[in-house]
Amino acid sequence: MGDVTLEHVTKRYEDVTAVDDMNLAINDGEFICLVGPSGCGKSTTMEMIAGLTMPTEGEVFIGGREVTNLPPKDRGIAMVFQNIALFPHMDVYDNISFGLRLRKYDKEEIDRRVERASDIVQLEGMLDRMPDEMSGGQRQRVAIARAIVRNPEVFLMDEPLANLDAKLRVHMRTELQRLHKELDTTIIYVTHDQAEAMTMSDRIAVIDSGQLQQIDPPLVCYNEPANLFVAGFIGSPSMNFVDGEVTEAGFHGKNVEVDFDPADVGVSPGDDVTLGVRPEDVYTEDEQAGIAHPTKRIEATTDVLEPMGDEIFVYLLLSEDATTSMDDASEGMSDQLLMSVDPDSSITEDQDVSVVLDRAKLHLFDTETGEAIQHGIATTTTTSTDSSTPAESDD
Ligand code: ADP
Repeated sequence: MGDVTLEHVTKRYEDVTAVDDMNLAINDGEFICLVGPSGCGKSTTMEMIAGLTMPTEGEVFIGGREVTNLPPKDRGIAMVFQNIALFPHMDVYDNISFGLRLRKYDKEEIDRRVERASDIVQLEGMLDRMPDEMSGGQRQRVAIARAIVRNPEVFLMDEPLANLDAKLRVHMRTELQRLHKELDTTIIYVTHDQAEAMTMSDRIAVIDSGQLQQIDPPLVCYNEPANLFVAGFIGSPSMNFVDGEVTEAGFHGKNVEVDFDPADVGVSPGDDVTLGVRPEDVYTEDEQAGIAHPTKRIEATTDVLEPMGDEIFVYLLLSEDATTSMDDASEGMSDQLLMSVDPDSSITEDQDVSVVLDRAKLHLFDTETGEAIQHGIATTTTTSTDSSTPAESDD
């Protein structure tokens, strides 16, 4: 069984805590991506699962068996890394079968496994090629086939696509998903690329500063980020954040106001909160017909436009007088917003526009702790009793 569990795993290097009290429970057959910025502890976590690094504290289990101090070869794992080290003087067959030959498997069994693996990664007909006669993508597939022939319970992949060009990387993502479907094996995959994590994994483990921030299916991380870090890291371009405070009437920022009953959201007047909204949830007044619960209008001027083909990113400068009362507490707060609009929009640079936000897609965070308070803010009701169904009620 390929389930992998980390219990209170910490790795310290002198004064650096690379991994900090990590608890992870990965199910048999799951495709999990460990994602986070460079230096957050992804590789160290992977190395401790692989047995290449020993934890300072905590325990690692694979298939229910404690493996914390076992060497890699006794863990039932296979690894594929960013830098593919194929033997340059061996053809594809010999490269794929190297480990099996070393372990003295009989020829028939080796042939059978090589055939199956090369079939899965679509290298049929290339078994007698030399590595220097192959493209980067094909060499990466040889490395994956070499891992497959070992019939591991768990595949560990550390940025295996990082050295490939953008187009090939997208293609290989699909191949890895197909591979996962075919093998039905646990795959733990390290990447700093949130798009890679979003597209491939059953669940994403988001890591920052050695600590697990959230482990959930991609769309849950996207729609219900646990904190400001996850909200900003998952999704491209990033979520907009507007700092402000809670008043009797709801959220009050320098340029953005959203009315709600603080009690409905579980906050109190005076609380410092950060409002989050993704660029795709900001609408011009013309576009807002498509949303059920818009906020009040926000006055802005368009700054730079970035046409992407399927959408246009519009940088908005919010007008100072967009909201009614302003106080000192809100000075210095965000006055920019990124909006995504339809590619056939007639919007131009330096244009005055009114925009609204989709209340159902707003996020509220505690500014100090960064923890999420609410996803989706219901409109204010006169009889506010139940806040469990955000954005369901009407004015
Ligand atoms: P990631 O894979 O997310 O980029 P790493 O796991 O490689 O991050 O590193 C996490 C932190 O631990 C970094 O600050 C890194 O400098 C430190 N680190 C990793 N390996 C070592 C090591 N062998 N000695 C000292 N510090 C290390």
